[in-house]
This record gives sequence, C-alpha cells and structure tokens, in this order.
Amino acid sequence: METRWWDSHPVPRTQTMIDLRSDLMGSRPAAVAAAMTLAALQPPAMTRMEDPYERRLSEGLADELGVEAVLLVPSCTMANQIAIRLHLPGGGLLASAPLAHVVTVEAGATALTGITARALSTENGHPAPDAVGCFLRDHPAVPALVWLENTQMLAAGSVMPAGWQADIATLCREAGRALHLDGSRLWNAAVAMKLPMSAMTAGCDTVAVSLNKAIGAPLGAILAGPGAMIDEAARWRSALGGDWRPIGAVAAAALAALDGWRDRLEADAHRTRMLAEGIVERFGEQAIHPVASNLIFLNRPAGDADAFVEALAGQGVGAITITPEIVRLAVHSGVRDRDIAPILEALSAAAARPAVAS
Ligand SMILES: *Cc1c(COP(=O)(O)O)cnc(C)c1O
Repeated sequence: METRWWDSHPVPRTQTMIDLRSDLMGSRPAAVAAAMTLAALQPPAMTRMEDPYERRLSEGLADELGVEAVLLVPSCTMANQIAIRLHLPGGGLLASAPLAHVVTVEAGATALTGITARALSTENGHPAPDAVGCFLRDHPAVPALVWLENTQMLAAGSVMPAGWQADIATLCREAGRALHLDGSRLWNAAVAMKLPMSAMTAGCDTVAVSLNKAIGAPLGAILAGPGAMIDEAARWRSALGGDWRPIGAVAAAALAALDGWRDRLEADAHRTRMLAEGIVERFGEQAIHPVASNLIFLNRPAGDADAFVEALAGQGVGAITITPEIVRLAVHSGVRDRDIAPILEALSAAAARPAVAS
C-alpha cells in the first residue's frame, strides 16, 4: 500500500508532560473529534447560517448567554477586535483595566484600530464602578468604549465582584456609552459565581467568549450581542478574513465540546483548589496569589521566573512566565486528580534547585 505522510506521524502523541502552560492544553473528548468528522462528511454550506450545525450552535449559545445573536469566529482576539470596530468605528477611547488582555497581549491587533487606551484604576484587577463613573464624566465628548474582562487573566484569573457589572452597565447606559465584556474565560467565572451564563453577560452590549480554552473545542470563539450588531460583526469577520467556509465541522466540534461543560469546569475548579492548597501547605501563603478560578500565579524571587519554568519543564510540568517574578499554572480538563501529587513534587524539585547566580 502507498505510504501516506501521516503514517510516519503516529497519532495520538504520547503526552509525558503535565502541560499547564495554558488552558488551551486540555484534553479533547473523542466525541468532539467524532462530531467534527461526521459534520465534515455532510454537504458543505456556503453562506452564513446555511449550515445546520452553525445554526444549532449559534441559536443554542444565544439562548444560554441571554443575547439575541451569536457569531462564531476563529479566535477570541478576533471577537475583541470586531467589537472595537463595531463600537468605535472612527477610533476613540478604550477604557479598561491596565492589565486587560486587549491592551497587553493583543496590543499589536489593537494598535490597528486607531484607538487610544485609557487605564481605569482597579481593585483586584477589575475596574471599579467609581473609576468608570469618573472616566465617563471626564470624557463626555469623545467616542468611548468601556471594557471589562472576566475572569481577569493577568490578575490571576480573578472574578469580577458581584454587582459591579450591573452598576457599570447602568453608568454606561446613562452616559450613552457602549460596554464590552472580554469573557474569554466567562465559563470559569460563571462556575466560580455559581450563576448561569445569561447572568454573566447581563448589561453588556457585546461579549466575546472563547470556545477553545475551558470548553475544550479544538478552535473558535464567539461574539454575542444584539441581532443588528452581530450582522454588522459578520461583515467585519469577512473583512478580517475570518469567514470559515465551510463552517460545519468547526461548529459541530464546539457543539460536542459544550456538552456537560459546567460539571467539567466545576471539576477543574476543584482540582485548582486542591493544587493551590497543596502549594500553600508546602511553601506558605505568600507563595501564590489568591486563587479564584482555574489559574494559579506563583510568586518567585525577582528574576527567577524563567529559570523556575525551565526547571519545572525538566520535572515534566509545563508552565509559563507572566513577569520576571510570576509563573502561571493553568488547570484544565487534561489534569486529573492523580496529577496533583506529581505537580507538587515537580514544584518542590524546581524550588529546591541550586540558586542561579545573577
Ligand atoms: C486567550 C484570551 C484571549 C484571546 O483568545 P484567542 O482565541 O487566543 O485569540 C482574549 N482575552 C483573554 C482574557 C484571553 O485569555
């Protein structure tokens, strides 16, 4: 028989690493791959909402999120970038936490929109209603967009305090300003708050949500909002090269991945707490930032983070550096109860290595 290129690339790869570099690294249930394959065998669709999987996913998520419409997009970065173009078509001020993903990690993309970033003062990473009120009073004449993020990635995955979003939404409505929520990890926030997703989106004009992190779809994100705005968003998706045609396999994978998400994320949250408790037992309270969702931020001596991450990789655990003194561990569906002890052993070994002379 003829040799095909994939014969020499056996799948699945054996995973020897406990990879906590990102919650993108979760395990994909076989049902997701099966749904994707089945959908790929169906007749392809060409235009938006022609595909039955795309319709079912979009309508189901619109219902669950309590919004009129949902657009499937390739990445949460694109969902955010479309939102900026919808709300600030001619540029203007984007007011967010200084550490918001959109102005830190997505800075390159955001620069293309011609907006000016304004940092709001924060508590526990989130802009407080008072700070938003001040901003809105100080900038009555310039186009402006208020930006929230939940959970707040660079604040150790902290969850927005109860009531803040409703208060901020009221302030924005009174001032005639739009409110966007980067809810890449809104699923994790909903589990932490024990609230339905519709409560987590309430009051926002648009909401971006990842499908490829907590949920475990192989790819994709959504932008949610009012029907007319999502129609306009679809035009921006085309303009930015984000139309998936055909889209069926992607939508079917996300549909399968969403099945039972809340139970799985409650398990992730539980394992994160177990891991965090183990870390505090071994290294003390000051070793980590307060844990609110599925992210753990470890404090390291100044300048040690990169070397610590490298030592940890040598022990079979993947992590990333956030700053020269902060290391991030992301817990996801691929982490099992029996992984907790080896992760703690790896952390001890990495922490016990001889100090690197600086
Ligand atoms: C990961 C992430 C994004 C971007 O998601 P991509 O799908 O990787 O583009 C946006 N916002 C936050 C808070 C994120 O963590």
